[in-house]
Amino acid sequence: MPPPEQPRRPVRSQSREVVELNQIKAAHPELATAVDLQIELVGVQRRLQARLPLPWIEVDARWLAEEQRHGRPLVRFKDLRLEWSDVRFMVRQAADVLRRFDMIESDDHARVQHLIREGHQLEPLVARWYSTQAFPDDPTPETPPVDPPISPEALELVLLFAMRPFLARCAEMLLPQVDLTAWTHPRCPLCGGDPEMGALNAAGDRMLVCGRCTGAWTFDSGVCPFCRNDDRSLLSTFTGSDPCYLIEACNVCRRYIKTFDSRRGTRPFMLAVDSVATLPLDAAAMQKGYTGG
Ligand SMILES: [Zn+2]
Ligand SMILES: [Zn+2]
Repeated sequence: MPPPEQPRRPVRSQSREVVELNQIKAAHPELATAVDLQIELVGVQRRLQARLPLPWIEVDARWLAEEQRHGRPLVRFKDLRLEWSDVRFMVRQAADVLRRFDMIESDDHARVQHLIREGHQLEPLVARWYSTQAFPDDPTPETPPVDPPISPEALELVLLFAMRPFLARCAEMLLPQVDLTAWTHPRCPLCGGDPEMGALNAAGDRMLVCGRCTGAWTFDSGVCPFCRNDDRSLLSTFTGSDPCYLIEACNVCRRYIKTFDSRRGTRPFMLAVDSVATLPLDAAAMQKGYTGG
């Protein structure tokens, strides 16, 4: 059965993020660089994401329930059906933007360019990047050493941004049609990514939002998503100047997650916007001795 015609992503959603980001910059000039970086990344991601074909993943309800029971995310690497010319394009764009904003060193930038030209090295590297996080208990796929080597931090950053449109496209398609009620884990049910932020919906239920695919899933608001501490006396919550953002911190593992409270917000949650708007909260949390997820 052929994949269904993909719905066009409304152009308006792109400009809404950029409008919101520019408002943050006007109100907080100290965040200007972070805003400009985000606008560039969002622009590149959205342009590609809008023209990507929808991945086609057959989801059998029994298989899905079984995978969830074992804590295995839904999307396997082969399900992504990547078009490698698109991946090379995104890796190049992500590396260029990150270099321009001094987020990666020029040596690492040059090595990424080399990696793209030497096409055969990129595919196993991306497969490994995806699968080691999604399926950490499975045997790690062998990859030839990357020559010259790229620093692991730079590579992670480049791949995280480069792969986001592909993974987000999967999340867009799958989330509305799969039943994830059996998923009780703090990592993403689609791609195994770690939560980047939380969001409270109108009923006060907590969703966690994946830092890799931007998909969201429900997770008990009374439980630390890092160490699963559920003793509420050892969980603290505090806000900064904007009451729609909270820090939810754990006094067992000393980690925190930033959360958007939609009951106090004037618009829906937007990861690209809210992750930047809450940068001052990161500083506040670290000052209190907590470390990010
Ligand atoms: Zn994910
Ligand atoms: Zn904890």
